[in-house]
Amino acid sequence: MINSICKNKKLCTGCTACQAVCPKKCISMIEDKGGFRYPRINMDICIQCGLCQKTCPVNNPIESNGVMKSYAIRNKNKRILKKSTSGGAFSAFAMYAFERNGLVFGVGFDDKLKVRHFGIDLSEKNRLAEMICSKYVQSDPGRTFTEVQNALQQNRLVIYSGTPCQIAGLKSFLKKDYSELITIDLVCHGVGSPFVLQQYLKYMSEKYHSRIVDVRFRNKTYGYHSSTMKLTFENGKEYYGSARVDYMLKAYFSGICSRNSCYECPYKQIERCSDFTIFDSWHINQVSDITEDDNRGYTNIYVHSQKGAELISKLSKFWDIVETDTEITRTLDGSMIDHYPPKHPKRDEFIAMLHEQSIGLAGKKYLNITPKDYFIEKSKSVLYHAKLLDKVVGTIRKKV
Ligand SMILES: Cc1cc2nc3c(=O)[nH]c(=O)nc-3n(C[C@H](O)[C@H](O)[C@H](O)COP(=O)(O)OP(=O)(O)OC[C@H]3O[C@@H](n4cnc5c(N)ncnc54)[C@H](O)[C@@H]3O)c2cc1C
Ligand code: SF4
Ligand code: SF4
Ligand code: SF4
Repeated sequence: MINSICKNKKLCTGCTACQAVCPKKCISMIEDKGGFRYPRINMDICIQCGLCQKTCPVNNPIESNGVMKSYAIRNKNKRILKKSTSGGAFSAFAMYAFERNGLVFGVGFDDKLKVRHFGIDLSEKNRLAEMICSKYVQSDPGRTFTEVQNALQQNRLVIYSGTPCQIAGLKSFLKKDYSELITIDLVCHGVGSPFVLQQYLKYMSEKYHSRIVDVRFRNKTYGYHSSTMKLTFENGKEYYGSARVDYMLKAYFSGICSRNSCYECPYKQIERCSDFTIFDSWHINQVSDITEDDNRGYTNIYVHSQKGAELISKLSKFWDIVETDTEITRTLDGSMIDHYPPKHPKRDEFIAMLHEQSIGLAGKKYLNITPKDYFIEKSKSVLYHAKLLDKVVGTIRKKV
């Protein structure tokens, strides 16, 4: 009798493949204390067909490929580059799809500032801005796997971007390879808790006495190498905070709020089932003949399929591109290709405290932000306003 789907609940990534495949629509995704969604079967309706267990990519891993070619790219559109996490690779793929009446699936915020996947076509091109920039919280794929299948059955080009576990889920659900499907995954540090994000936004909204209208986890005001969280409030105020002092970023990078599967992620390998893997290019002047790093960002791209290799040359109008060495980029920029975020010993306590107290109090107790951290953060802002930040960051980076 089927009463659980994934062979080990701790490894369930919440990809939604089981929910999408169920012929009786009797699987719901239910949030745990961290706001992470897990499947639950309505046993009154289940017909014990076993499709969910067979489709789960944790139970039955799908075929993955190594890296055929590696590149670093920068989007030619300056406005897009500024808004993108690194070099704006995702937007270049999206523009290509729009020109071919394709659909683009990516991650943005809904009107309650919850992180979700959604799909857009040319008529909603202005919503691409919502997808640009990494959100370090688990996204809800919703019904997008079924929407992708419907579009592919009508022979439409589809670009789907997500974490490696989401791409594995999508591919398991689709069961066959479609020539019109392009998948893009990320080098994935892990995903943070949706519940922690909501508590953080509530706290910041109260602190600034205003509704939050925009959230950017990797804003480039201080440059690519010093990117920060940026919140924009309805009353016109703006907040900037780096991973050194910002409660959400600090919680994310200290491993205190990731999904349990991220601490034992089955996708931590260079081989992928996607067509492309994109990730930060922190060392452009060491992986290419570009000598000057102007602090505006590049994206590393690994190509995993013939389809991907053929597509690369068709995007040259959208980006500047250089070929790189896979092993060098892996060593310099790809530590999270095969490393797990360390699980913070107080993870569960931190999340439990947030059900009772504000992130201001929980942050003080668990996140270890020191007066020195606040001092460095303040100095950064002073240097920026004195137009000296680039020079100082450049000097420090040369020494490292
Ligand atoms: C949760 C997460 C963890 C990451 N960890 C690392 C890492 O450890 N090392 C590293 O080098 N790079 C990591 N990245 C990738 C990096 O942040 C950039 O996304 C990448 O460099 C591409 O940037 P870009 O400028 O080309 O694209 P951008 O324009 O910034 O596009 C971002 C893309 O990511 C998608 N996306 C945004 N948020 C999510 C989400 N929550 N879940 C799924 N997809 C999302 C968007 O749909 C879009 O396709 C991570 C990204 C995410 C979302
Ligand atoms: S066994 Fe079949 S009917 Fe039951 S939950 Fe799984 S997919 Fe749905
Ligand atoms: S298919 Fe995805 S959501 Fe369903 S049990 Fe497996 S990992 Fe979890
Ligand atoms: S670390 Fe692994 S399990 Fe966690 S979101 Fe990334 S790919 Fe999925």
